[in-house]
Amino acid sequence: MFCRETSRPTGFVSFVGAGPGAADLITVRGLRALQLAEVVLFDELPGRELLAYCHPDAELVSVGKRAGNHSAAQAEINHLLITHARRGRRVVRLKGGDPTVFGRLGEELTALRDAGVRFEIVPGVTSACAAAAAAGISLTQRGVASTAILTTGHECAGKPEPAVDWSTLAQPGATLCVYMGTRALGSIAMRLVAEGLAADTPLLIVSHASRPTQTVRSGTLENAAALAAETEDTPSLILIGEAVAQNRAWLDDAAPALAHGTR
Ligand code: SAH
Repeated sequence: MFCRETSRPTGFVSFVGAGPGAADLITVRGLRALQLAEVVLFDELPGRELLAYCHPDAELVSVGKRAGNHSAAQAEINHLLITHARRGRRVVRLKGGDPTVFGRLGEELTALRDAGVRFEIVPGVTSACAAAAAAGISLTQRGVASTAILTTGHECAGKPEPAVDWSTLAQPGATLCVYMGTRALGSIAMRLVAEGLAADTPLLIVSHASRPTQTVRSGTLENAAALAAETEDTPSLILIGEAVAQNRAWLDDAAPALAHGTR
């Protein structure tokens, strides 16, 4: 049986960041919410190991993107969140990385607010931070990068988000963290160079950060397209800027196992 230890009002959803993939990178608070959940709505996370922590009686609902019809899927997710919460069930909405970063959280929060359903957000390790950890670099660095920018490389016509203004992002003193950007990396790199970044600005493509399959590829804006072409692995995070120059490639040459998390 579930233990209802608080007088939490009916209609409550916890948005929980699952982290970048490794099951032990969820927060203690997130894990606790998962253990207490009666219903868990989860995206198709790369690994389902975290679900093993759920109560055996919990209802686990996959709400992964349905083929080609994202908005219908989103409306359905909103509906499920509200319906389960209104039944007084303890609902966890588990999202990859951090829920507030490119996780379509805004749509779900609006739906809950409109329905009068209370919620909390439990942060998670976003993949930009997991990628930096994998590469052994600091996203900000005194005298090198005083700004870190989270942006998306995935823009297509008809999307509701405003277009990314690459001209304002081409800053020498910044580290650009590009989500969903592998496919468009060639054109992004050309655009950044056209906007004034040096062609030899270093970049990294970090795939499967935090997982046993993790890889770190290093290059520059100049050879970015070729580097992306050999990157079939998704998900991948791209880090661009002088701060990524001192990555751990030197260490991986000496001890490859460390880079792949097999310690
Ligand atoms: N909310 C998530 C991001 C969702 S968008 C977060 O905070 O990380 C999905 C994108 O995140 C992917 O296309 C990829 O760019 C990035 N991503 C997610 N997991 C990753 C991982 N383990 N390694 C590298 N990039 C990852």
